[in-house]
Amino acid sequence: MRLGVLDGRAVVVNGDWACDIASASRGLLSRDPMTLLEDWLRVRDWAAGLPEKVYDIPVDPNALGAPVPRPRQVFAVALNYPPHAAEAGFTPPEEPLVFTKFPSCITGPHTTVALPDGKVDWEVELVAVIGRETYRVSEDRAWEAVAGLTVGQDISERVTQLQGKPAQFSIGKSFPGFGPTGPVLVTADEFDNPDDLEITGLLNGRAVQHDRTKSMVFPVPELIARLSAVLPLSPGDLVFTGTPAGVGNRMNPPRYLTAEDDLVSRIQGIGEIHQRFTAPEDIHPA
Ligand code: ZN
Repeated sequence: MRLGVLDGRAVVVNGDWACDIASASRGLLSRDPMTLLEDWLRVRDWAAGLPEKVYDIPVDPNALGAPVPRPRQVFAVALNYPPHAAEAGFTPPEEPLVFTKFPSCITGPHTTVALPDGKVDWEVELVAVIGRETYRVSEDRAWEAVAGLTVGQDISERVTQLQGKPAQFSIGKSFPGFGPTGPVLVTADEFDNPDDLEITGLLNGRAVQHDRTKSMVFPVPELIARLSAVLPLSPGDLVFTGTPAGVGNRMNPPRYLTAEDDLVSRIQGIGEIHQRFTAPEDIHPA
């Protein structure tokens, strides 16, 4: 099943067409994706029986919003691909290095991001979405806690991220629009192997990041087991699972995002998200 949010309403996506969940269920199910995630198994069972003819809304990619617009908790993991840890000057960590992207930065798949002052960088990431109350789940049952997978960008302003001793990652990764996600949430059964997906980040059409998710130091089930060993996870919580090598601040010379740039983040079997950028002088805080 592929869950999308089209013009603010939850839909099941099938190719270029979508089915409005609230209408097709005659109000039995909510139009709000957060409510649907609270009762996810029921939604999946309902969606599995849908006839082809209910997919009657054309999907306009630009009308898609974040599949999970209001997560309660957003986890993100640093240095989870060995080549990225190496380019950052570290050996792979022995424990997951966890920070947050504050939920106000979460947006949809096709956005324009205002660049704050500083050095803004890209990080394509697989994002796991929690689908049930989860506390102390074992690694071998952790996939059962996942509603599905989506694509995310952990956009990062490096000056804010790395200032201070010790540095504090979360604020520099939480500027408005720094957490684009989408285009849809895809359930694990849609993949041949949800632990091994091609992941690619393209800057102005050129692949700057490219790996497979099986390279992760801590794969999705292990991350969920380790996080839930400490605290309860809730439906709709997001886990940004780390980025492959090829970020801008490790290039020589370093390369940061500018107002002319065009960023595409793509994961096999899910799709792609697309960001453009505007210059700092175009930011007018309310
Ligand atoms: Zn990241």
